[in-house]
Amino acid sequence: MGDLKITVLQDGELPLGKDLLKGLDTAEAEKLLGGPGPVATSVNAFLVDTGKHRILVDAGGTSAWGIGYLAERLQKAGVNPESIGAVLITHLHGDHVGGLLTPEGKRAFPKAQVRLSQAEHDFWMDPATEASLPESRKPMMKAIKAMIATYQAEGAYHPFAPGEAPFTGVKAIPTPGHTPGHTSYAFGHGRNAFWAIGDIIHFGKVQFAKPAVTVTFDTDSPRAAATRLDLWERAAKGKVVMGGSHLAFPGMGRIEKRSEGFAWVELDGKTQH
Ligand SMILES: [Zn+2]
Repeated sequence: MGDLKITVLQDGELPLGKDLLKGLDTAEAEKLLGGPGPVATSVNAFLVDTGKHRILVDAGGTSAWGIGYLAERLQKAGVNPESIGAVLITHLHGDHVGGLLTPEGKRAFPKAQVRLSQAEHDFWMDPATEASLPESRKPMMKAIKAMIATYQAEGAYHPFAPGEAPFTGVKAIPTPGHTPGHTSYAFGHGRNAFWAIGDIIHFGKVQFAKPAVTVTFDTDSPRAAATRLDLWERAAKGKVVMGGSHLAFPGMGRIEKRSEGFAWVELDGKTQH
């Protein structure tokens, strides 16, 4: 896209059940999702090469979750992890930051600066957040803290303030709701604008057509729904190419406004849903 070269790296797939959906009855959910079973959901990370820098948006998870293939995929794409100058984090969930450390606990990206919004950092570092997590999510919290400590120790972890550019030529778009500091990242301009939108959408077959439907693991459901609707409006108007962390691989396309809701059009021009 213009000066940008974008490589989508599939970190793996996670099964997501329709019981995670909020605001949609079971029959309708099964109809839209094509059956009662869980949806094999892609975990995508986006590598943007600006010609001067290589910037990774999100870093996938770990093998503990049945994902964590990012390092392997980078190698296949012929990308040396040492060539990555920045890793921009949409939010601090395990399937987005687990891949920042090697299985040995070292930096997977030895020369990268890790950046995320101050609001996201503050939320997860608040002892009240950790206290509110169920036991099952405590290991994830431990992994997040280890990642932060490892990069911080080498001066490579820097939350950014509202309005601050996370990296040369990249704009941060606050997209709160899924988590309080969830952030999307905007690259390029005009016809070559690309937005990496993280977890603004989990179910591609549902949440374009029905942006008000949320998922149980959104921190703030009404805010997540309002953010999604606002982003869909803006992206449709600007004909922006978006990349979603959990859209069917490669997860890139444009959104179009319809009389009811929106439709997702993949880059090959074929309308998906
Ligand atoms: Zn996610």
